[in-house]
Amino acid sequence: MSRYSAAEIEAKWQTAWDEAEAAKAVRSDDKPKYYVLEMFPYPSGRIHMGHVRNYTMGDVIARYKRATGHAVLHPMGWDAFGMPAENAAMASGGHPKDWTYQNIADMRDQMKPLGFSIDWSREFATCDPEYYGQQQALFIDMLAKDLVYRKNAVVNWDPVDMTVLANEQVIDGKGWRSGADVERRELTQWFFKISHYSDELLSALDGLDDWPAKVKLMQANWIGRSRGLQFAFSVTDEAAAGTDRIEVYTTRPDTLMGASFVGISPDHPIAKKLEAENAEIAAFCADARKGGTTEEAIEKADKKGFDTGLRVRHPFDTAWELPVYIANFILMDYGTGAIFGCPAHDQRDLDFARKYDLPVVSVLRPLGDQDYVAPEDGGAAYAPPKGEKIAYVGGFAGDEQQTGNEGIESAIAFCESNGVGHGVTKFRLRDWGLSRQRYWGCPIPVVHCYSCGTVPEKKENLPVRLPDDVTFDVPGNPLDRHPTWRNTACPVCGGAALRETDTMDTFVDSSWYFTRFTNSHAATPTVQADVDYWMNVDQYIGGIEHAILHLLYSRFFARAMHATGHLPSTATEPFDALFTQGMVTHEIYKTTDANGRPVYHFPEEVEGGVLKATGETVEIIPSAKMSKSKKNVVDPMSIISSYGADTARWFVLSDSPPERDVEWTASGAEAAHRHLSRVYRMAWDIAHGEDAGDASADQDLLRQMHRAIADVTGGVSSFGFNAAIAKLYGFTSALSKSNASAAAKRTAMLALAQLMAPMTPHLSEEIWTMLGGTGLCVLSDWPKADEAMLVEDSVTLPIQINGKRRSEVTVPKDMPAAEIEKLVLADPAVQKALDGNAPKKLIVVPGRIVNVVA
Ligand SMILES: [Zn+2]
Repeated sequence: MSRYSAAEIEAKWQTAWDEAEAAKAVRSDDKPKYYVLEMFPYPSGRIHMGHVRNYTMGDVIARYKRATGHAVLHPMGWDAFGMPAENAAMASGGHPKDWTYQNIADMRDQMKPLGFSIDWSREFATCDPEYYGQQQALFIDMLAKDLVYRKNAVVNWDPVDMTVLANEQVIDGKGWRSGADVERRELTQWFFKISHYSDELLSALDGLDDWPAKVKLMQANWIGRSRGLQFAFSVTDEAAAGTDRIEVYTTRPDTLMGASFVGISPDHPIAKKLEAENAEIAAFCADARKGGTTEEAIEKADKKGFDTGLRVRHPFDTAWELPVYIANFILMDYGTGAIFGCPAHDQRDLDFARKYDLPVVSVLRPLGDQDYVAPEDGGAAYAPPKGEKIAYVGGFAGDEQQTGNEGIESAIAFCESNGVGHGVTKFRLRDWGLSRQRYWGCPIPVVHCYSCGTVPEKKENLPVRLPDDVTFDVPGNPLDRHPTWRNTACPVCGGAALRETDTMDTFVDSSWYFTRFTNSHAATPTVQADVDYWMNVDQYIGGIEHAILHLLYSRFFARAMHATGHLPSTATEPFDALFTQGMVTHEIYKTTDANGRPVYHFPEEVEGGVLKATGETVEIIPSAKMSKSKKNVVDPMSIISSYGADTARWFVLSDSPPERDVEWTASGAEAAHRHLSRVYRMAWDIAHGEDAGDASADQDLLRQMHRAIADVTGGVSSFGFNAAIAKLYGFTSALSKSNASAAAKRTAMLALAQLMAPMTPHLSEEIWTMLGGTGLCVLSDWPKADEAMLVEDSVTLPIQINGKRRSEVTVPKDMPAAEIEKLVLADPAVQKALDGNAPKKLIVVPGRIVNVVA
């Protein structure tokens, strides 16, 4: 076959690799190990170009590491629990389980033709009872170690879907699916004690040298270490308040002299007492509890307060009384559920003070700003960064110039020495609420016994399986209304008991799956010999959108799994290196319908800026992330059927560094395919052509080959995939122009096949075989660059005659100028120009150029 046919080549070699078990991960005592992992997919049913790019990157690394003598673990699984399966069941009948497993089968079928070197024997889905049963065992071990507990917590409640919503499921204060106004409700929920590790999760970020700085910063901000003052205001009317004090935590104790009111959450004990006594307050609190609990939702909501009539005394001036407001922007589970408002230095407090006519008292001023308008004179709140040097007005120790951080520390010291509270370090990170009132998740393996209370299920009874016979015709959790599933025997006393019907947040499933791949089907969560050998993940690859929660939860789980004996201490930071890849983007094609609404068109419907069907001109919107709603998507399956997997793999890695976005264009894909066809044709010609070459050109070709080996190795081993591909284009071009002997060309072509193999494994394998390479290309050792061949010992100098380039001369690097002059004078072009005369001038610039004036 003299013509490149990806369809024939690719299926054939995939079968051969499967038979050779080329991608099987095998522990080996005499090989270094390498664990490369891409974040596993949600089984939506279709793979998209983003998947193709992500898994191709991981596959390039896996193939390169195998070729360089590593035992490689490169697995694949499915993050398979979650809402979409339940929504699909609600929308169109059917069962979440059937929907999920069908999608997995479909996606596996779409993924396999891409030729990823994945050890499929380790595949699992998180909804497999085998997997979630081990997750339940982990939960029970964590319960024994006090790393998971139950408490009452305020949650986002969707009154229509009758479920708790995660913060990200609350959009503009409404449930993302039902559109109903979200309420805050107090429920008993399960929590992982991630806050136990706050300090460590923060400080250990320093050791993650191969993580993007941006991701570490996002994690640090999320953990949110802050230094502040915890103190109390004393209440003037103890009987009315039901307490003598209101505890407050503030990160700005240096503004305490600017306090003008105290705000408490609608869920604060004082608010609850007043609510029970006063209908007006009850109505206000009920209204304030509406709306989401996210910072964003609270930030957006209209700030409202209710003056309780209660007063507190300022700690430094007992005659100074401050009003106590119930405010809708204060959450009970954040700090103490109470704040002091300092309108001069907080815009939210200033808006509140202006609305309710409260005093505004500045205690900070900028240094040297002549145009400054203080907030009491109508200016905005002045809230400089804590590191900035400012003037303190009427501060604790008189007027001083210092930074906010210094002011905060001196305020804490002053308050402590005066018996007003104490300095504390707090973290913004809250314990991880894992309860979901959902069916399609991992059942929480505990039982509520009428006599023993809440007790864990026995491990020998695991997995606690989800019942299959459930319906989704009414809102709420089907487990709650299942006629029999809830009824069980208490694992302690044997008496009648009820199962927990909450299931686990799906983030739990993805927080330890990478450890499970080390032995996917073991009867315990992990097996020591396997985690000892394979952990850590040497290279983790995924999207920046998982930079906070997934990675933080995984870091917590690794610590918890160490504490419960499932991971070695060396694996508490489970990902040695993290890479966040860019997206695959595409232009958007838009027209407008008769009603002025946008209509989007798929790329294949457009040609030359017009709709193929109607000839209507489309508006071309610059490239953006591929999205179904904008129709700017290309289906990997159609790319494979047009061009083959190797073209798709090659193109998603070329043109753009892997951390940046790459724009998919039809012309780019065609060009990639043309290039691969050309490489195939070159190999064919070398294998079948006659040896018409010139052995004197061999050395030059082999030098270029060793240069390519060095450059491509450098690119592939350092995420410089696009740079490696650029070098491969260059080497291909050099090989095509070379006049070397057939033997040298064959050697160079075999090396080219090996260097391309991580990106285009099928084409490489075909060329390897065509040219008589030994065994399988994928099992061959990575070529090594000969250092001696990398040294450039000759140099080509252009010859300019009367200012125009007419010829060139290749000379040894260290050739003396006088010798070069002789060669130049012998050059035919020079001789012709001189026409028998001596040159007027002949200047040799060593290593650069020769100038001849005739
Ligand atoms: Zn019992």
